Amino acid sequence: MFYYDTRYIMMLLPVLAITLYAQWKVNSSFRRYSKVANRRRLTGAQAAQEVLRRHGVYDVRIERVRGNLTDHYDPKTNVIRLSESVYDSPTISAVGVAAHEAGHAVQYAVGYGPIQLRMALIPVTQIGSQFGVILLFAGILLSIEPLFLIGILLFSLTTLFQLVTLPVEFNASRRAMETINEGGLLSEEEARGARQVLSAAALTYVAALLMSVVQLLRYVMLFAGRRGDRR
Ligand SMILES: [Zn+2]
Repeated sequence: MFYYDTRYIMMLLPVLAITLYAQWKVNSSFRRYSKVANRRRLTGAQAAQEVLRRHGVYDVRIERVRGNLTDHYDPKTNVIRLSESVYDSPTISAVGVAAHEAGHAVQYAVGYGPIQLRMALIPVTQIGSQFGVILLFAGILLSIEPLFLIGILLFSLTTLFQLVTLPVEFNASRRAMETINEGGLLSEEEARGARQVLSAAALTYVAALLMSVVQLLRYVMLFAGRRGDRR
């Protein structure tokens, strides 16, 4: 029953499809626009710098990091890390991704609420993801309902985290596209390509949230089912 719950499978399959589609889309659109140089020959690092400058943010460092699509903003050290295919590349993809990461740095600098909430949730989410599932399974195996329930509640923190991540990601892309358009970092046509890359990336976060919701629902249904069996 635990592994072959049909309702769970019915929920899981479409979410799995969305997840795979989003990953394929982000990789393919990034690759596609990585081959197209932008007219101003602006590199990712320059684009990030320009976004920061236009928002009056001057205390953020921009560094190069290994890997592919490993670009991120680290609020602890206040550093934007851009991958090799973004940092020095004068492509449409590079400008889009770099401007997005700079968007996170701007969020942090202006005290944007959701990014602060997201940061506050990081330590509790780590506890939730580590102990939630352990307590949950211990609760099931030992038939201790309160343990099971605490496990579900801890697990739900990770779902909450994924939910709070959405406005943070969407807002960073909105800031990025605004600066790209207003500052003329890319031409109108080029900006459409950058938007495609960022939209695909946003979809991966939606997929992650859906996946987390499906897991949570599975545990809740399992809990409700066991309570029902007892009666
Ligand atoms: Zn982001």
